[in-house]
Amino acid sequence: MNFLPLIEAKRDGRALTPVQLQNVVAAYVAGNIPDYQMSAFLMAVFFRGLDGGETRALTLAMRDSGEVLKFPSDPRPVVDKHSTGGVGDKVSLPLAPLLACLGFRVPMISGRGLGITGGTLDKLESVPGLTTQLVPERLVEQTQKIGVAMGGQTANMIPADKLLYSLRDVTATVPSIPLITASILSKKLAEGLDALVMDVKFGPAAFMPTRDEARDLAWSIVGLAIECGVMTRALLVDMSAPHGRAAGNWLEVKEAVQCLEGRGPADLQTLVIECAASLLVQTDKSPGLEAARQTALACLASGTPRRKWDEMIAAQGADLDAFNAKLRHDHTAPVVLECVATQEGFVRTCNARIIGGIVRDLGGGRMTKASVIQPDVGIDQLAKPGDAVRPGSVLGRIHATTAAQAELGVAQIQAAFPVTPTPPASAPLLVDAL
Ligand code: URA
Repeated sequence: MNFLPLIEAKRDGRALTPVQLQNVVAAYVAGNIPDYQMSAFLMAVFFRGLDGGETRALTLAMRDSGEVLKFPSDPRPVVDKHSTGGVGDKVSLPLAPLLACLGFRVPMISGRGLGITGGTLDKLESVPGLTTQLVPERLVEQTQKIGVAMGGQTANMIPADKLLYSLRDVTATVPSIPLITASILSKKLAEGLDALVMDVKFGPAAFMPTRDEARDLAWSIVGLAIECGVMTRALLVDMSAPHGRAAGNWLEVKEAVQCLEGRGPADLQTLVIECAASLLVQTDKSPGLEAARQTALACLASGTPRRKWDEMIAAQGADLDAFNAKLRHDHTAPVVLECVATQEGFVRTCNARIIGGIVRDLGGGRMTKASVIQPDVGIDQLAKPGDAVRPGSVLGRIHATTAAQAELGVAQIQAAFPVTPTPPASAPLLVDAL
């Protein structure tokens, strides 16, 4: 195909037709458009945007670039949750088994971490023996059988997003509302969902720096998903401080298990319950949000989601004995160093951008697509905004592969924790829902 006139059209702010966008996606996946031309096109979209019809056409073309999951009819609604990405964001890990215990089917297709944001697949793969490489038939079969499966995109599901996302990542074209909408919804629509809850983050460590931009993104996703028949709700979530008290793949799995055992951090439990409650209401399994929260809390407290987690990871090849033995260790990285406060006062904030950067540099995240993840590194015992501290109070513990990396982490982490004489005003985690 001659792609040049379409790049020119988008550069000049003209709308493309659905057929033109379908041809673009098909040609790119077939290897008939070079990356330099697609990069120019993505940059034109970044600056000119896409209208509603174009965003819909691009999303559907991307969804249809590969296999779409088909579930047998069943009274259990097929649901999922998706986050736009954050630091210490392990909500999916306890949420997926909780949803299975609440009577949903959850075929969760997640992504890997890139830059400072973590990815659910990297976290899961810190569990000994567990695979996230589930072909579509296996994903459907496991979901039908035990209610939940957590895997990654395979070569034959949504190949267009895989290719386009990698290109966007290296051409500074990720933070575009129509491109994020198409990327997320192409994946979610390929799961054959009845309902979806979106966790849209804003703040210095999120793609959308401000609440208003996050709201625009949320409207774009919710509007299109509902148009495509998926009952969708979005939560706007503050991502200025990491969620929970741990950031790093294995450390986050440990914290997710604590949440499933009713002893996790309050902010993590709040988000897990809110996502579950939202889906209960969206699928008419509960008459209202307050009743739904109580249902979700009671289910979590019953211990069945913790057992469902074991069932799920065992179904995906995990060695449960090795997993439980690993959980019993205080740390599994070779070096652990505490970072302590040097003055008395209150933690004003815990800068998620700095924390995410330290975890990535320790080897917990990727510098490039080819980077090899160190599953056991990261930071735990993170102080939270509002915590009272005095000289010697722990602000965080660095888990590293070498002493030199640990010392560098300790030197960098101080800047993440400004301490003030008076407690900061408490900022809500969940600022809005639509
Ligand atoms: N998450 C996605 O899956 N795609 C994006 O473009 C951004 C966040």
